[in-house]
Amino acid sequence: MSHDEPRQDAPDTVAVWGGEPHPMADRATQVPVVHSVSFGYDDFDEWYGVAVGERPGHIYGRNSNPTVDAFEEKVRLLEGGEAVTSAATGMAAISSSLYALLAPGKRVVSITDTYGGTSKIFTEFLPRYDVDVELCDTTDADAIEAAVAEGCDLLYLETPTNPTLKIVDLERLTAAGHAQGAVVVVDNTFATPINQTPLALGADLVVHSATKFLGGHADALGGVVVGRDDLIERIYHYREINGATLHPEAAYLLLRGMKTLHLRVERQQANAQRIAEFLEEQPQVTVVNYPGLPSHPQHEVARKQMRGFGGMLSFGLEGGLDTVARFFPQLRLSHAAANLGSVETIVAPPATASHVECTPEERAALGIPEGLLRYSAGIEDVEDLLADLRQALATI
Ligand SMILES: *Cc1c(COP(=O)(O)O)cnc(C)c1O
Repeated sequence: MSHDEPRQDAPDTVAVWGGEPHPMADRATQVPVVHSVSFGYDDFDEWYGVAVGERPGHIYGRNSNPTVDAFEEKVRLLEGGEAVTSAATGMAAISSSLYALLAPGKRVVSITDTYGGTSKIFTEFLPRYDVDVELCDTTDADAIEAAVAEGCDLLYLETPTNPTLKIVDLERLTAAGHAQGAVVVVDNTFATPINQTPLALGADLVVHSATKFLGGHADALGGVVVGRDDLIERIYHYREINGATLHPEAAYLLLRGMKTLHLRVERQQANAQRIAEFLEEQPQVTVVNYPGLPSHPQHEVARKQMRGFGGMLSFGLEGGLDTVARFFPQLRLSHAAANLGSVETIVAPPATASHVECTPEERAALGIPEGLLRYSAGIEDVEDLLADLRQALATI
C-alpha cells in the first residue's frame, strides 16, 4: 500500500498509516526509535542547508528528531492542520503556545473550567508578565462574547472540560474571537480528533495532552499543537529554545498507541454512555456530567460539534467528598489515579487529579465541586464495569 500521496482518508486509516515515513531504514515496517542526539554531515554545504531549513534533515535532538516527526505528522493529519509541533508534556505544549504568542500588554479571554495547570498559567504566571487574563463562566457564551468584544489577542477554549464535562460552542466563539483579531486556541484532549476537529470549526490552533487518549496506555507523556503555519513556527521556535522537547522514546509509544485511537475511543464512549445512563438512575448519585446524555445542559451543542461524546464522565455522590473518598477504593476494575484516557478505567476526584494544583478555595472559585468523581471509561466489558459500580454503590 502506498501511503505517501495526499488524499482524504478516513480517520481510522490515518490513525494507522498517517505520518509513517516511507520507505524506512532497512525496510522496517515500524517507525524506528532514533536515540541519536545529533545528526552528522560530511560537508559544509549539506549541513548548512539543513541548518537553515533549505534541505530536509535533522541537526540536534532538541530541535527535531525523525521519530518525533512521525508522531507529529500523524496528529497533524488527524486534526487536519497546516503545521504541527510537539512538546515534552501537554502542559509544555500549552505553555509554549501561550508564551510564544503573548507579550506584556496582551489580553487573553478564557473560561473558568480549563485544565488545572492551564488555569494556573492564567491566574499565577501570565499576570506576572503583565498579560491581562479574563476568565468567563464556561457555559455563558454571551459573557465570553462580551469579554472578547472588550479586546482579545488570544481566546483559549477547552471542550469538553475537565472534570465537569461542560461544552463550549466552538463555531460561535471562534467567530467572536476572529471578529476581534484574536488567535483562537482549543484544548481537544477530551474529545480527540476522532470526535471533534476544532480547526474545521474555525480554530487557529488545537492542543493536546497526548499523554491521555492519543497515547492511550498511560506509559508516555507528551503534548502536541496543530494549526496555522505562521503560529506553529513561533511555537516551535519558543519550544526549541526553551527546551521542553518530546523524547523520541515517548514519541514512539504515543505513535504506536495512536494506531488504535479510533478503536479505543469507539469502545470508551460506548462504555461511558452506558455507565452515564446507569448512574443517572441511581438514588445515591446526585449528578452525572456526560455530554451524551439528553439531560446534559449543552447536549445540543455537543451533538452539533462532536461526532461522538467521548470516554469521560463525572458524577457526584450523596454526602459529597466523604462519600466519594469511601466509594472509589471499593472499585476493583479501575485505577484510582491522576491520568485519564487509558485502556483501563480510571477514577479520580478533582482535588487529587485535574485540579491538584489548586487550593480548595481556588477550586471553589472555579466552580469545581469537591464531591465529584471523574470517570475515564476504559475498554473493558461494560457489564463488568457496571457490576463493579453496582457493588461499590451498595457499600455506601
Ligand atoms: C492532562 C491534561 C493536560 C496536561 O497534560 P500533561 O500531559 O499532563 O502535561 C492539559 N489539558 C487537559 C484537558 C488534560 O486533561
